[in-house]
Amino acid sequence: MRNYEVGVLPGDGIGPEVTRAACRVVTAAAAGAGLRVRMTEHPAGSAVYRDTGTSMGEEVFAALGAADAVLLGAMGLPSIRRPDGTEEGPQVDLRDRFGLFASLRPCRRYPGVPSRVDAPDVDLLVVRETTEGLFAGRHDEVTPSAESSSDRMTITRATSELLFELCFAQARNRRDAGRSVGRVTLFDKANALRSQAFLRSVFLEVARRHADVQSECLHVDAGAMMLVTEPERFDVVVCENVFGDIVSEVAAGVVGGLGVAPSADVSLTRGVFQPSHGSAPDLAGRDVANPVAAVLSGAMMLRWLGERHADDRALAAARAVEAAVEAVLAGGPRTRDLGGSAGTGEVTAALEDAVTSRVAVRS
Ligand code: ATP
Repeated sequence: MRNYEVGVLPGDGIGPEVTRAACRVVTAAAAGAGLRVRMTEHPAGSAVYRDTGTSMGEEVFAALGAADAVLLGAMGLPSIRRPDGTEEGPQVDLRDRFGLFASLRPCRRYPGVPSRVDAPDVDLLVVRETTEGLFAGRHDEVTPSAESSSDRMTITRATSELLFELCFAQARNRRDAGRSVGRVTLFDKANALRSQAFLRSVFLEVARRHADVQSECLHVDAGAMMLVTEPERFDVVVCENVFGDIVSEVAAGVVGGLGVAPSADVSLTRGVFQPSHGSAPDLAGRDVANPVAAVLSGAMMLRWLGERHADDRALAAARAVEAAVEAVLAGGPRTRDLGGSAGTGEVTAALEDAVTSRVAVRS
């Protein structure tokens, strides 16, 4: 039997509450499936930056590098900023250090989850590039000026090819699992920006290598609107870094909000799993945060470990968590963001119970 070591970064705001909920549900699923998952918490985030001057110590990076996967809550607090006005976000440094070039952000409409958009069959995956694009100049030397400021958008062939290969593989898997028609849609701004015209040219090259999967390109402004007006037509949607940040939250809004939107930042060998939402300091410490996005991120972690290590137990644990989430969302209890009145703790306990009764042990 394989043992897994998971590095856990609870982080800031609601991060600790939702991460500990995810750890409880993942641990219950793992135990039921006969799997050993050891979780070790590490300090990181804005509060750590305030207290120590660095948001994630080298020893934490080293421990995460040695782990099989990382589970992260949320980092960053608006009240704690760097001298240039930006928030501390070591999750962005993790992406750079570990080469996590893609953030997979599934958005699925679950029965029982209310939405202002009348589209019950949305099941799509936004893939956000996470190491370059409009974040590329984060470490550029700049002379501070009171008159202007700028950021740089850089697209490389190497990262774009990796990104698009992953998207076509995801679309093929989703189609073969009967979840979709198998289509990758690039949202870009190829009509206005050189870097985006280049991105589109690489996309079309990669698409030609995967003629069995459908492909299309839309300008990001039109695409963002269509995500709201016809969300059920989309399967895999891919964008550069900042467009993907925005588009993934639009898609999350369409299926009921950030409380049900998980994510996985991946390279070919590493994975960092975290809810799509931020630290939501307005909700912190009040037992009102929805733990489902973090719990679903835990399920993505188990599935990723299972696929990577051909481990049926991890896959069974992932399925148990997914089924438990579906059952609890459908029947309650639900948190306030989903129209319910339950607290984080009550929903977590219901998920734990549901998972325990669902794990199918395969020996
Ligand atoms: P970031 O840029 O770091 O992702 P953000 O500016 O997008 O952060 P969030 O912290 O994600 O902001 O929160 C936006 C709002 O969404 C919060 O004020 C909160 O009302 C809601 N929200 C976020 N996460 C949750 C959650 N788990 N449960 C309930 N509501 C949430």
